Amino acid sequence: MQKCKNYINGQWIESSSGEVIEVNNPATGKIIGEVSCAKQEEVDMAVDAALKAHNSRVLVDMPPMERATLMRTIANELRKVASDGGSLLCSENGKPLAGAIHEFNDAANYFDYYSGLTDKLEGNTIPVNKTVIDYTLLEPYGVSAHIVPWNFPMSMLARSLAPAFAAGNATVIKTAELTPLATADHFAQAIHNANVPAGLINIICGYGNEAGSMVTGHKDVSQVTFTGSVLTGKKILHAAAERAIPAVVELGGKSAAVVFPDADLDKVVNAARGGIFGQAGQICSAMSRVVVHESVKDELVEKLANMAKGLKVGDGHDDGVELTPLISEQQLQKVENYARSGQQAGATAVAGGNRIDREGYFFEATVFDDVKHDMTIAQEEIFGPVLSVLSYKDKEEAIHIANDTAFGLAAGVFTKDIDQATNTVNQLQAGQVYVNSWFTGSVATPFGGYKQSGYSREKGQEAIKGYLQVKNVGIQL
Ligand code: NAD
Repeated sequence: MQKCKNYINGQWIESSSGEVIEVNNPATGKIIGEVSCAKQEEVDMAVDAALKAHNSRVLVDMPPMERATLMRTIANELRKVASDGGSLLCSENGKPLAGAIHEFNDAANYFDYYSGLTDKLEGNTIPVNKTVIDYTLLEPYGVSAHIVPWNFPMSMLARSLAPAFAAGNATVIKTAELTPLATADHFAQAIHNANVPAGLINIICGYGNEAGSMVTGHKDVSQVTFTGSVLTGKKILHAAAERAIPAVVELGGKSAAVVFPDADLDKVVNAARGGIFGQAGQICSAMSRVVVHESVKDELVEKLANMAKGLKVGDGHDDGVELTPLISEQQLQKVENYARSGQQAGATAVAGGNRIDREGYFFEATVFDDVKHDMTIAQEEIFGPVLSVLSYKDKEEAIHIANDTAFGLAAGVFTKDIDQATNTVNQLQAGQVYVNSWFTGSVATPFGGYKQSGYSREKGQEAIKGYLQVKNVGIQL
């Protein structure tokens, strides 16, 4: 039984209310740990600690090379705890163990990557006239708040924390209530072991509508980064607007792969294997729709159904497991309802369609054929292992189907024709487009949404702009 506390000002702090949040293993439904639940007092402590650390200028005035060294030390400490931390993350989230360990290494990669930018935050000199020297400085906002989702607790956290830290901000992180353990334990320990000055990185555990909204609405928070659902994202944007502070929001998706008649269909199947069934489809940029030309639709559907039926189901700790559980009973019921709605609307489940009769929150790998563009399962984010196949007659229709949702996170094109590929890429409304694959990015590639999938960009050099403000200086000679 894992018991974790809040990490505030370099110390592990219990909530004065004594309230805890229990965490279960989605593969079994059994309680595996608890975290001390932050209330207003702990939120205030965390933000105060961050503000004091910022005002002390310990990070702001740290020479860039020293900041880079500190970040690489954090990266090394994260790699040291990757195995144990990954195991705990696997237990609380349900994802395959290898993926959970990879998240810690991925987090380390973010710190390494952004350590390389600390000495490249350069301003400009601007010609005004011969009696004025004008230049710009890039400065941090101050206290940057990070609200993290449960699907990739470690990667998503490091994705925003590392550039915020590289830019010189002090931070307060609110973990997701369903998966706080590995962050509150191993991640906090890595930060502590790296000797990060107290108060620069604070980690609190609590409910979104309590601690989460207290953090985002706190008077001393100067910038917010939120990764999660559109619904909550809009609340965050309202809270940020109330205080006129900037927000980076990374939200949901309903991403489509457009398959042309000449495509290698096995590549589509391979992409779908990880793209929609990896982590039981609980991925923001999941390949949740396949928009395929009618001439090859039946052949592709058969291949997809066979792949889905053959996936190894199990606990993320089991060897070679491919289909892991959903995060919670609530999420399982939500996915069941979507599957029922698809069937009622006339879609055909050629694979799966039901919950799996075993302990934990498992749902079958599901492929829906005969999906029409206006069905709920083709429009809304299901966040489960459910793939919708839609067919088209001509390219115009394919592009229309792919683009006509409220989202615009990712998209894909499958064709052997490079002209067809690049022309289609240009017409797809999505923040990232994959050709003949899915998920090709790295920490260095900008990631973010079009439309309601969010704005700003995370990852790569783009991301650091979200954590810096520009000061213009004019010197009269
Ligand atoms: P969620 O919106 O329910 O919760 C996300 C976080 O917000 C949690 O930490 C939660 O406690 C907190 N929260 C909830 N209400 C809040 C409030 N009023 N104020 C402040 N914080 C609050 O999302 P989720 O269910 O954890 O994650 C799944 C969603 O996240 C999916 O829609 C998925 O597509 C999206 N997501 C997007 C990306 C991306 O990069 N675009 C990445 C991962 C997940």
